[in-house]
Amino acid sequence: MNEHIEDTCIICGERKSEGIHIVSEFICDACESEMVHTEVQEDKYHFFIHQLKQIWVQKNA
Ligand SMILES: [Zn+2]
Repeated sequence: MNEHIEDTCIICGERKSEGIHIVSEFICDACESEMVHTEVQEDKYHFFIHQLKQIWVQKNA
């Protein structure tokens, strides 16, 4: 385990070492926890979904 490897978050675009991987894409801890609490933030929720759809489009292209 190398805890210092950083990935670029697909949501905020920042390089973070803490987060989750979906397929081969990365979502940082901050955005991931934000996604869990987006039910009152419709616009942001749709933005997240849009970003996630982009991943699938790219993977299936
Ligand atoms: Zn992020």
